[in-house]
Amino acid sequence: MAYIDLHTHSTASDGTTPPQKLGALAAEAGLSAIALTDHDTTAGHAQCKTGCTKAGVEFVPGIEVSCDRGKPVGAMHILGYFVDGKTPALKDVIAELHEAREQRAPHVVEKLNALGCDISLEQIRNTAGCAMIGRPHIAAVLVEQGYAKSIKDAFNRYIGQGAPAYVRKDNMPTGRAIAAIHAAGGLAVLAHPVQLRCDDDEELAAVIGRLIDQGLDGMEVYHCDHDAALVEQYTQFAKRHDLLMTGGSDFHGTRKPIALGGQKVPAHLLDTLRDAVAARR
Ligand code: AMP
Ligand code: MN
Ligand code: MN
Ligand code: MN
Repeated sequence: MAYIDLHTHSTASDGTTPPQKLGALAAEAGLSAIALTDHDTTAGHAQCKTGCTKAGVEFVPGIEVSCDRGKPVGAMHILGYFVDGKTPALKDVIAELHEAREQRAPHVVEKLNALGCDISLEQIRNTAGCAMIGRPHIAAVLVEQGYAKSIKDAFNRYIGQGAPAYVRKDNMPTGRAIAAIHAAGGLAVLAHPVQLRCDDDEELAAVIGRLIDQGLDGMEVYHCDHDAALVEQYTQFAKRHDLLMTGGSDFHGTRKPIALGGQKVPAHLLDTLRDAVAARR
């Protein structure tokens, strides 16, 4: 059986692997295809594609768009597959998300300084390199400077939801993200439904129902945060609602203890995605 990984991050967002190196890593892991789904950017597409071509791995241009969850807990991330990052509507969404990150970072630093963590915006920018600032970059600086034991610890004690230096940034409406992904020729897929932190199945059905009304094409069934019972639940849900199924590891390089290809996602899921995108065009 051939396997794929449709959820990966590079140094173009908050991963630690340069996009041009992902292809070789994927080949080493025995994968036939990967999607690059950096947060709020398509900047790594060209380099990742070059690396994948060299390694004989199929490249899928993707994105993971940070959206408004509509309540204080949980994350609403919409994946886009087969997107053209040069499309104006998607570029506009990306520019707004970039701005939201630029505005959030100094606020987080202020809060951390008030909590006694002597770290600067400049240190965070250096860690982020060419990427937009993400919380894992801030977490990495907190670890480097001895204020946290690990990235996880930095989220738990400082910058995660409910922690004292958390600053909310996500107000992109899901409808706009889905429309922009469609305008860019892509398919819109709800990432890691478990991270929505729904109170019960009823809320989950209502949230996904609204996304379907907005044009959602699929949902991520396989993910490092989904145990076997959740994979089964989401598979049944996707079948009932005629949604495409996707999956991936949510690889972040050394910033998350997750291996590329760690999810054993069957390659035939990508055939279905390709057919769906061809039917849409
Ligand atoms: P941001 O989009 O900048 O708000 O950062 C979100 C990213 O932080 C996610 O994509 C994960 O990579 C990471 N993250 C979120 N929550 C946690 C957590 N509790 N522990 C470790 N990493 C986390
Ligand atoms: Mn991330
Ligand atoms: Mn995510
Ligand atoms: Mn992700």
